[in-house]
Amino acid sequence: MAAKNRPEVAATTVPSVERPPTGIIADNAPFFSMRIVPLNGTRMAHQQWPTTMVDESGRVGAPYAIGPLSPNTKGSPRQRSINLTLSARGIAAVQAIDNSLVERLLHNAVPLRGRMVHRLDGNATRQQYDRGGHCLYSIERGLLNTILLEAAGSVLNIGIQFLHRVQSVDFISNTVHLSNLVSGQAFDDRFDLCIGADGSNSVIRHHLMVATQMEYSQHYISHEYVEIRLPHGMDTSGHNTFLLDADHLHVWPRGDFTMVAMPNKNKTFTCALFAPKTIFDALQYPDTLIPFFKSHFPDLLSLLGEKRLLLEFQNNPRSLLITTKANPYHKGAVIIIGDAAHSMVPFYGQGLNCALEDVRILSILLRREKDGHNPSVIRRVLNDYSESRHEDLVAICDLAMDSHLKMRHTVATWSYMIRSFIDNILYGITETRSSVDLSESIFGPEVPSGWIPLYSMVSFRPDISYSAAKKKAARQEHLVDSVAAALGVLGLGYILYSIINLNRLF
Ligand SMILES: Cc1cc2nc3c(=O)[nH]c(=O)nc-3n(C[C@H](O)[C@H](O)[C@H](O)COP(=O)(O)OP(=O)(O)OC[C@H]3O[C@@H](n4cnc5c(N)ncnc54)[C@H](O)[C@@H]3O)c2cc1C
Repeated sequence: MAAKNRPEVAATTVPSVERPPTGIIADNAPFFSMRIVPLNGTRMAHQQWPTTMVDESGRVGAPYAIGPLSPNTKGSPRQRSINLTLSARGIAAVQAIDNSLVERLLHNAVPLRGRMVHRLDGNATRQQYDRGGHCLYSIERGLLNTILLEAAGSVLNIGIQFLHRVQSVDFISNTVHLSNLVSGQAFDDRFDLCIGADGSNSVIRHHLMVATQMEYSQHYISHEYVEIRLPHGMDTSGHNTFLLDADHLHVWPRGDFTMVAMPNKNKTFTCALFAPKTIFDALQYPDTLIPFFKSHFPDLLSLLGEKRLLLEFQNNPRSLLITTKANPYHKGAVIIIGDAAHSMVPFYGQGLNCALEDVRILSILLRREKDGHNPSVIRRVLNDYSESRHEDLVAICDLAMDSHLKMRHTVATWSYMIRSFIDNILYGITETRSSVDLSESIFGPEVPSGWIPLYSMVSFRPDISYSAAKKKAARQEHLVDSVAAALGVLGLGYILYSIINLNRLF
């Protein structure tokens, strides 16, 4: 990377004259490593893209971490959402880059076969995610960060700069203005391609908004969340055990608020209470918090204990939930991906998976070009990405919002369970499998014809785009509604017929 006033610690420096193209990923720890690998890893390294990843956080607890990280580095524990779920969509994106990385991730994750819905009376029902036996994988964010950072750090041409903040971008000179958060030194860096993966408060997006006629919307939902760590238990031989069934994501739907719990590899669970601000305001005091848990989550309270619950609530932050939509996602050689481009509420568990899919798609589009380093080609590719990706990103943001209602209420209703049952029967009869190579193809050549439940399409069929899944599910729902209405008419007819015949009889 060509640099002006670059401090001593610069990662990858390339002379400005006849330098090979350079990429800068202004971001992040967790997922930028994934984003960077497709751009610079096995395939892109051959294409000579020296890359610098910049993050304002100090993930490894040292002023700088440049190049390969030591094996004992840890992701910072002070990150939002302690664990998250990888689905087939995210896994396919990682697989398109490096299969061995998938193995490492899954080795550190807990497979979830379905959700377990806990009722107020203490009974719980299991709902399988997918009749094909597909799983979600629950992984701690810190562990995920560490694995991805180590993978990125081991790739030639990738330099990593922690505790550096991107302050602004200049779209004419292709320069980012950075500051070193330790020394306070400001400096500029030039780039050929800048990928902003700097989260929902993205600085890069802010500058894009000024430079383009970007359409942008943001919406905070009334719900906030607080996380609570449920410790491991101990079996009779003194080994650590899970206190809840570890094969499932646990949900306590209570109408206006919901508790969710996901297992961690170390046999603990991370629970998250999602509730409106007004409820959290009232739960600040022990004399309201404990009775609230006694009334709504007595089973969980008995596992947690009152003391731990109070401690967790006192120490853990309350966080907000936002949906953002933008269009376009680029200008010139600068593009935003991940939450910077599309934050969504977490109820479909797709934010990270979608961010990884962004990487896969952008990487394919860049690799398809023979002259992918040419500035006009980069501009065209980013334009293609913006145009083709928008419908899918809006679709998943909307689906995540719909899922908010489902998690709070519908998931525990009979009509939801009957509908899922019908969905799964039809799925079983007509199921088709995909054999598309997603390291080369963006999605499958066409949307499969069989019946596939929406959840399965979104989570387990990365060959189907989010928008195609949404449209297909709407058609399927319409069909189920029509069949239900026809059955209703038939049933009514039968009742009328029986009444008339009864009249004849007597
Ligand atoms: C409660 C909750 C649960 C979730 N559960 C799931 C789940 O189960 N499955 C799933 O797929 N998704 C889930 N998500 C969504 C997921 O966390 C996000 O979609 C994902 O983290 C987005 O990654 P990102 O890299 O785009 O942004 P972020 O993870 O926000 O990373 C942004 C990074 O940019 C850095 N940064 C910011 N500004 C600058 C700057 N100016 N200069 C340099 N660096 C900067 C920050 O330090 C940070 O590291 C969940 C989200 C929440 C809130």
